[in-house]
Amino acid sequence: MAQYFEIKAANPGYLLFYRMGDFYELFFEDAEIASAALGIVLTKRGKHLGQDIGMCGVPIHAANDYLNKLIRQGHRVAICEQVEDPKEAKKRGAKSVVKRDVVRLITSGTLTEDDHLDARASNFLAALAMVRHGDTDFALAWADVSTGETFTADLTAEQLQDELARIDPAELLLTEPTRTHLLEHRLLPPAWAAIAHLAPAESFDSEAATSSLRAALPGGAFDPTALSRAARAALGAVFGYVRESQKGVGVALRAPVADGAIRHMAIDQATRASLELHQTQRGQTRGSLRQVIDLTVTASGSRLLSARLAAPLADAPAINQRLDAVGHLANDTLLTSRLRADLKAVPDLARALTRLALDRGGPRDLAAIGKAVGAAAALARHLEQREEVPDVLARIARILSAAPLPLASELALALDDELPLLARDGGFVRKGYDRALDDERALASETRAVVAALQARLIEETDVRSLKIRHNGVLGYFVEVPAGHGTKLLEEPHRQTFIHRMTMANAMRFTTTELADLEGRIARAHEAALEIELKTFASLRYDVLSRTDALRELADALAELDVTSALAHLAATRGYTRPDIDDSLAFRIEGGRHPVVEDMVMAQGQSFVANDADLSGDDAVGGGRLWLVTGPNMGGKSTFLRQNALIAILAQMGSFVPATSAHIGVVDRLFSRVGASDDIAHGRSTFMVEMVETSAILNRATRRSLVVLDEIGRGTATFDGLSIAWAAVEALHDTTGCRALFATHFHELTSLAKTLTRVSNVTMKVREWEGEVVFLHEVGPGAADRSYGIQVARLAGLPEPVLARARQVLTVLEQRSAGTASSSQKASVLDDLPLFAHQPASRPVEKDPVHIALDAARPDEMTPKQAIDLLYELKKIR
Ligand code: ADP
Repeated sequence: MAQYFEIKAANPGYLLFYRMGDFYELFFEDAEIASAALGIVLTKRGKHLGQDIGMCGVPIHAANDYLNKLIRQGHRVAICEQVEDPKEAKKRGAKSVVKRDVVRLITSGTLTEDDHLDARASNFLAALAMVRHGDTDFALAWADVSTGETFTADLTAEQLQDELARIDPAELLLTEPTRTHLLEHRLLPPAWAAIAHLAPAESFDSEAATSSLRAALPGGAFDPTALSRAARAALGAVFGYVRESQKGVGVALRAPVADGAIRHMAIDQATRASLELHQTQRGQTRGSLRQVIDLTVTASGSRLLSARLAAPLADAPAINQRLDAVGHLANDTLLTSRLRADLKAVPDLARALTRLALDRGGPRDLAAIGKAVGAAAALARHLEQREEVPDVLARIARILSAAPLPLASELALALDDELPLLARDGGFVRKGYDRALDDERALASETRAVVAALQARLIEETDVRSLKIRHNGVLGYFVEVPAGHGTKLLEEPHRQTFIHRMTMANAMRFTTTELADLEGRIARAHEAALEIELKTFASLRYDVLSRTDALRELADALAELDVTSALAHLAATRGYTRPDIDDSLAFRIEGGRHPVVEDMVMAQGQSFVANDADLSGDDAVGGGRLWLVTGPNMGGKSTFLRQNALIAILAQMGSFVPATSAHIGVVDRLFSRVGASDDIAHGRSTFMVEMVETSAILNRATRRSLVVLDEIGRGTATFDGLSIAWAAVEALHDTTGCRALFATHFHELTSLAKTLTRVSNVTMKVREWEGEVVFLHEVGPGAADRSYGIQVARLAGLPEPVLARARQVLTVLEQRSAGTASSSQKASVLDDLPLFAHQPASRPVEKDPVHIALDAARPDEMTPKQAIDLLYELKKIR
């Protein structure tokens, strides 16, 4: 107990997996938490201070699955192992306890094993530091421990939310004061609060970080002082936490990339969700943009594609460089298919390298590295056969052809075809690689042949045909005969040879001096062989790690090649075209399509209707155009709005786009509010959410931004909503001057096109046919004159009586409004409509005392004096 309490106290905040023989056991509160989280039995084991100790346990062989479950639920686990042989403890005295220590902390942000990780997703640990003085408010550092990638960025409070949404960390470290500050300023939404862990202020010390970073990233290529103090502090916290979690194994992180140096298109959380970039609003991958465009064939390629999709660039030359490379491969489909075929065989180099660096790797990781290096050389040859490749491909080819081939050949020579997961299982070094190893193995297998010969001889001598030499973990080698023959061996002459070990129900076991001797020889040969194998493993691991930098660069290049050829393949197979990207304010899309809806519509055997959009701004007239999109529900408004936002994202991440042509002047910020939903978890109504988001747009959008808004002002009274939408359009037009698409049900808004020069009306075309509406999904000039809501309701199966009544009401509304002067007064007609203004006739009208007194008065019968008295009375009542 003393040992347990000591270790438990040293690891607060962690569930302690305490090694007891073949189990990890948890005690006290840990046991309660884990048994509930894992659905395993909570039992008791012994007493402490007179109370039962709660306990639950998981067997070692299944521990990984249980760990996975706990980590997914946000728990952190400390693995406490027996760090000495129990025999050693016994030597110290009968009461001595086996030494134990925590060998590793497992948290969601510091995972490295494939079992725990999604191969196609990054897994970031982030730390947030608050700045006391300066231009920025925060610094964020984040690292994917499984690949070593590390980043830092200095951020304003406003940028913080967007960045966290983009990075989507698995774990976020911050200090108590930072957390309090964030909560006070409503900057810590529940999603981030749930993954936040408090870290002591010392771990965010920028001075200490400077020296520890220098030590962790030797070679002088990285100068911590080039980062802001806060960035250093945050980075120090990340490194410290990783070091702590690996318990002395080291930190396999790369020098950080200062993310602020790269210009990205700013996309806030609401826009990401609304555009369903990485997952749908229901949280599924199916139906997201990523799922449709991700044709990568390697895990690291898929991670890179996902990162690019999350952070499109905002720098025309950089975007065009990527597009050049994609274009080159899109035109050379033969080269692309060769590259893709070879890339398929490339294993996850970055993660294998990290596991080896953390001494957690096995023979399969070594093989993965050899295979990746070998594949790189082949890929380089494909690229080198082509002349005049664009810069990006030329750089990739250079890195691939510099891959350390001798290392790959060495690994191929050394490692067998079938490999165990762990080095200590042995049997992974190929025959013929090491003479001494082959000798030991020969000895081991020779002695096995000797065992077989011995068995034959013993059968001869005893005349027991069923005699067998067998082996198990407890007895080692032994002779086994059926129970009936056992007594025979206990008698002369055999009792000279056979030493009795064990009697069982149907068999008896013996050993012989010769067998014990042989056993020793086999075990020694086996041990010697394993020792040689482990030495080989260590030396190969050393060879690999001494080329860490080159291998990481290679891993990056392979991922980039995969992404580039996947995007080329996408372009070639789906009819995407190269967008024209520059620094203008153009946004001209011809024949644009929605990548995801197109897929869906085509799967249903229909065709997708392509649509143009032109929001090109002109500096001379003061900014971008604003299209007001009207049309019936189900007419295709949201699809049209979203497709243009998605085309901008695809173009700026360096992909071809689903359109016949596209000219886009770099978009600095993208805002999309399409299909906003209630945010009940935050206690905000649809309308409140919408207003918060609209204000974010009006405050943050610039002339370079692209704004895509759907039905602002729905969640409130008609007039309120209309006026807000009206004012928002005016503000976007007059003040912001951004390029914008604005879908609305308020047909009244379309009259703005008359007064605002850069506003145009477009509508989703429909055709009426025998009382039914047919949606053409075609965008054309003009405004919709009606909503076809009732027709849509009919399609949705609203009961016929309700539909009939709705038609009646609509007719009344339309007739009455036809007489009113301006269309904006239409809504006032609602007040006259019996359906809405109706009040039950039986309701008594309550009267006040003045009325009652007046009713009672008879002026014709009053004297002047009585009249003046009544007047005074009435005055008193008031
Ligand atoms: P709205 O926003 O006007 O209510 P949506 O954009 O949600 O309409 O479109 C409704 C459905 O119409 C989509 O789910 C899709 O199946 C179909 N659709 C929309 N646009 C197109 C198009 N351009 N071509 C073919 N089908 C389309």
